[in-house]
Amino acid sequence: MKYVKIGQTEIAYEMCPSTKAKQIRITIVNDKVRVSFPRGTNEQKVKGFVEDKKEWILKTLEANKLSEVKNPQKNYRTGEVYLYLGRSYMLQTKVYQRAKPYLKLTDNAIWVFIPENVPESNWAILVKEELSKWYKNQAQQVYQEKLEHYSKIMGLKYNQLRIKNQATRWGSCSSKGNLNLNWRVIMAPEDVIDYLIIHELAHLKFMNHSQQFWQLVATFKPDYIKWKKWLKDNGRILVL
Ligand SMILES: [Zn+2]
Repeated sequence: MKYVKIGQTEIAYEMCPSTKAKQIRITIVNDKVRVSFPRGTNEQKVKGFVEDKKEWILKTLEANKLSEVKNPQKNYRTGEVYLYLGRSYMLQTKVYQRAKPYLKLTDNAIWVFIPENVPESNWAILVKEELSKWYKNQAQQVYQEKLEHYSKIMGLKYNQLRIKNQATRWGSCSSKGNLNLNWRVIMAPEDVIDYLIIHELAHLKFMNHSQQFWQLVATFKPDYIKWKKWLKDNGRILVL
């Protein structure tokens, strides 16, 4: 194993000399990085090649990590990973002696307690429902708090916050000043939520995506391009 360093992160990669390889090539499968090269290639040359590509390697590894979270067939069972404010939590389900289900967030897990009278065939539906209720609730609270904060510092008054459940839309702003925000964004990093809220608030002033509009967004979120891109690239994993 060789290592390449990016800031504080060390990335391990496997050197694979090959008689078939015509050039140096990096392949990434899940979290494994392999570098194949024609047998006899100068090792410094291979290392230099990896060094040049390190930003791309890191980006690909991060994207792979995120897509791991995206298990398209969620079964709402212990061991599955769910996102909340950009962090991964493992789902843990447990049967308990109460009449009502209960959800609890800990440092690294989301616990869903299932009443013992619920038949096993209904567990998945119940867990999904609990998760959905909890996410929407958290979204309402977190968005409201952030909205009040940004509305104040931006000097823009909104009418009402509405939590929406749309497949493809993250947020919108009506001409009456109502802000609609998708609850699924609560799964994204807080910077993404901040960006989205600032974006929708900025629409209270500019009902378009003009240069002035983006300037206003940038005033309150200078690195907004990064988070806008995050949402575009990773929006598909924000599913329940
Ligand atoms: Zn917009």
